[in-house]
Amino acid sequence: MNANAGQTGGGAAVPGSGVPVDSHTTLFGVIGDPVRHSKSPLMMNRAFRETGVNGVYAAFHVGAERLGDFFAGVRAMGIRGVNVTIPHKLDVMRHLDNIDEGARAIGAVNTVVNENGVLTGYNTDGIGYVRSLKEEAEPDLAGKHIVIVGAGGAARGIVYALTGERPETVTILNRTPERAEELAAAFSTRADIKACAAGGESAKKACNRADIVINTTSIGMYPNVSGVPVDPGWLSEGAIASDLIYNPLQTAFLQEAERRGCRTHGGLGMFIYQGAYAFEYWTGVAAPAASMRSAVLEALQRQD
Ligand code: NAP
Repeated sequence: MNANAGQTGGGAAVPGSGVPVDSHTTLFGVIGDPVRHSKSPLMMNRAFRETGVNGVYAAFHVGAERLGDFFAGVRAMGIRGVNVTIPHKLDVMRHLDNIDEGARAIGAVNTVVNENGVLTGYNTDGIGYVRSLKEEAEPDLAGKHIVIVGAGGAARGIVYALTGERPETVTILNRTPERAEELAAAFSTRADIKACAAGGESAKKACNRADIVINTTSIGMYPNVSGVPVDPGWLSEGAIASDLIYNPLQTAFLQEAERRGCRTHGGLGMFIYQGAYAFEYWTGVAAPAASMRSAVLEALQRQD
C-alpha cells in the first residue's frame, strides 16, 4: 500500500486545523442502502482534519444494481478508500481484484483500498471490536472463556478476530442453532469453539463460567431498548458484559449486568476502531481515535 496516498497536497498542512479542499484532495466514502444515518462521514472528516491528511469523505447511497458502476467510478476517479455497509458487504467482493485473507475467512468486506486502480477488500469489523475490547475492558484475552450471542455477519468477524487471541473457549449461542453450528465449524481449527442451544441449561452454564459475554444480536437496539439477549442474571460477578450496539450507548443488557456487579463494554469503540483501521490502511497515518470518538458522540448527542 502507498502509505503516502491521501496525505497533504500542496496546501498548508497544520495538524488539527484541516487542509483546504483543493486540486490535491483525495476522495473517500461509504456506500450503503440506506446510508444517510451513517456517522462515518463526520468521524472520518474529523480524522482528516486532525491529522492534516488532505482528504474528503462522503456518503454514497448506492443500490445493489449499481455496485458495478460504483466501482468503475472508484477506479476512474481514483477514489482512494471506500467503507462498505449493509447490504453490500458480501456482494462487493465480486467487484474487487484482491480479498485479504481475514476478509475471505469472514466472508465479508467492509473496507476497500484502491492502489492505483487495483482494489483490495479488508474486513476491519472484527479486529476493530477486539482492539476496542482490549483497550477499554480487558487487555489480555488469552485463556478467557468467551460467550458470543448471535451468529450473523458481525459475529463472524468477531469470532475470527477473537480466535487469534488464544481464548480458552468460545461458545456461540444463537436463536437459529444451525447458524451457530456453521459458524463454530468454520473456525474450529483456530480455537476450542462450540455452538450451544440458546435459552437452555447449557447456555446458562456457559454464561455463568464466562469471563466475557458478547451480544452481537440487535436485541436492545433503539427503538426496542428494553430487550436483553440473555438473562443478565446468568453472568458471574466481575465478568465483562459486552454489546455491539451503541444506540443506546448503554443497553438494557449492560445496565442490568452492571447492577449485578459485572464490568461493561459498549459498541461505540468497535465503530470507532473499525474506522480507525480503515483510515490507517488508506493513509498510513495513525488514526486519531479519541477525536473520532468525540465526533461520533457529539453527533449521537445531537441525534442527527
Ligand atoms: P445479522 O447478520 O442480521 O445477524 C443478526 C443476529 O442477531 C443473528 O444471529 C440473529 O439470529 C440474531 N437476532 C436478531 N434478532 C433476534 C431476536 N429477536 N432474537 C434472537 N436473536 C436475534 O446482523 P449483524 O450485521 O451481525 O449485526 C448485528 C448487530 O451488531 C446489530 O445490532 C448491529 O447494529 C451491530 N453492529 C455494530 C457494529 C459496531 O460498529 N458497533 C458493527 C456491526 C454490527 P438468527 O440467526 O436466528 O436470525
